Amino acid sequence: MRTPFIAGNWKMYKTIAASREFAIKFRELHRRNDVKVAVFAPYPQIPVLVEMFKDTSIGVGAQNVHFEKEGAFTGEISASMLKEIGAQYCIIGHSERRQYFGETDKSVNLKLKALLAENILPVVCVGENLDEREGGIEEKIVEMQIRAVFEGISMNDAIKVTVAYEPVWAIGTGRTASPEQADKMCGYIRKILRDIYNKDIAEQITIQYGGSVKPDNAAEIMSMPEIDGALVGGASLDPLKFIEIVNF
Ligand code: PEP
Repeated sequence: MRTPFIAGNWKMYKTIAASREFAIKFRELHRRNDVKVAVFAPYPQIPVLVEMFKDTSIGVGAQNVHFEKEGAFTGEISASMLKEIGAQYCIIGHSERRQYFGETDKSVNLKLKALLAENILPVVCVGENLDEREGGIEEKIVEMQIRAVFEGISMNDAIKVTVAYEPVWAIGTGRTASPEQADKMCGYIRKILRDIYNKDIAEQITIQYGGSVKPDNAAEIMSMPEIDGALVGGASLDPLKFIEIVNF
């Protein structure tokens, strides 16, 4: 019922020229139409990729947005501006933004509303850090994040959201959550969504796992019943690795 969704987070990597090279190669390799695929690029690369992927099913997204429509917010970009450059998706609440740029569940909630108002599909990241996992409070932390982020979001809008469960200790570290650990938390997230909304809505929401997903572990992760996709950082920069993940 839920279509698998593989997303590539490029972070602050790739020039425009390198993005073009990626797009030429990836477009040629991509054949699967039973999997949703999107690349989340730095802002200047977005219109370039939108143009290069225009006759394909490959989506393009941003990695952040401001929640206000416009104003004196130097350095920020609004959802309508993202729309104008063709972004179809946007990541919000990534742990790097929470860690280095003061993102909070409250700002993620406002950003979520701003994106939905512009019909941009949000990918909302949640996940516990190592201390929280070792302290056995990972479910409590993720539940708090999910409840805060979905505050005031209607059922109609909730089904447009992708949740990415990204344990902070597994991002860019080469240390992956075991497929069972990842599946358990994705199942727990769905249980919270069932509680906030209902079973039918919770069953429609895509839940990805992210954290050191690579070609050699993608199939196992994707075989887990509660995991609907992957948010891929490092391995999404190389079209050959990324296509292997997409072809899990
Ligand atoms: C990410 O940036 O969201 C991520 C999961 O990174 P990596 O795959 O490199 O761990």
